[in-house]
Amino acid sequence: MSLQALREGQPAQRRRALAKAITLLESSRPEHRAQADALLTAALPFSGGAVRVGLSGVPGVGKSSFVESLGLHLVGQGLKVAVLAVDPSSSVSGGSILGDKTRMEKLAIEPNAFIRPSPSRGTLGGVASHTREVMRLCEAAGFDVVLVETVGVGQSEVAVAGMTDCFALLQLPNAGDDLQALKKGVMELADLIFINKADLDPKAAMRARAQIVSSLRLHNQAHGAQGLPEVLQGSAVSGEGVAEFWAAVHRHKTQQGQAGQFDARRHAQDLEWLQERIEEGLHQAFATHPAVAAQWPQLKDEVHAGRLAASTAARTLLNEFLGVKTHG
Ligand code: GDP
Repeated sequence: MSLQALREGQPAQRRRALAKAITLLESSRPEHRAQADALLTAALPFSGGAVRVGLSGVPGVGKSSFVESLGLHLVGQGLKVAVLAVDPSSSVSGGSILGDKTRMEKLAIEPNAFIRPSPSRGTLGGVASHTREVMRLCEAAGFDVVLVETVGVGQSEVAVAGMTDCFALLQLPNAGDDLQALKKGVMELADLIFINKADLDPKAAMRARAQIVSSLRLHNQAHGAQGLPEVLQGSAVSGEGVAEFWAAVHRHKTQQGQAGQFDARRHAQDLEWLQERIEEGLHQAFATHPAVAAQWPQLKDEVHAGRLAASTAARTLLNEFLGVKTHG
């Protein structure tokens, strides 16, 4: 698998090459890992050029409809759009909230669009499993926009907000839900809020918008109006508000750039990426270490029975892992 295959040739061939490269990234076989690392290293100098947008919201709010609408708007402007879906449900239920339905049929057939659901692997780290890496490959393959979609069911929003330039939250024109999100602190992550389905009840959407704006002001009094997310409304189905959404993404990017925050955010995200992968690697090495694996079940029982402090059990296992000789 070469970088050239991602960057040269017909769009259809390049999309196939990108899909293959992602499969390579997601493989856990050591020889594939080495190939994937080589590919990433080659891709890195050509990455970073896309606008990275995160998108979240409760199931049914209209995420896939919105991504399709926005994606079509962007390809209509001659931009190349990659859509990556981060699906935290697939690890829990074995099923998938995002992946099971037929999604984005119109966008999927656009030559300048690429859609990839990413199954997550087990842990929360798995939520973002390989999305950061996949994003780099998409950028090296020439995509101008990377949209990362996730379901608003907990910490997946944190993961996606932590890997994008602009994190947008989709809301229903329903005040109760908005307060819910505020309580959870999810709105604090948002750079942009879009009240979807405004076509169903434009007045309710306006009320919701006013309410969200005032709640945001209230919660952010210390920071003043600056830095508050823009709140927009519209409809993924009619397309109303989608162009405005994209304009707001650009405004946010420009403001961040002017404040020197754009590069700072990306640098911080790169360091988080490093940290995440180290922790992931350590966890895996620990869990699969033969001496650790041999003693773990028994120590768990001891902790469970109250015969051993969890901290002591942990130290015993860590000593095994590190090969530290204990006395006595
Ligand atoms: P997701 O679960 O957040 O990805 O939501 P979907 O995009 O699958 O949308 C859920 C349902 O809401 C579908 O039946 C969509 O057709 C509908 N829907 C999405 N956006 C809008 C909108 O702006 N207006 C209206 N009236 N329906 C919408």
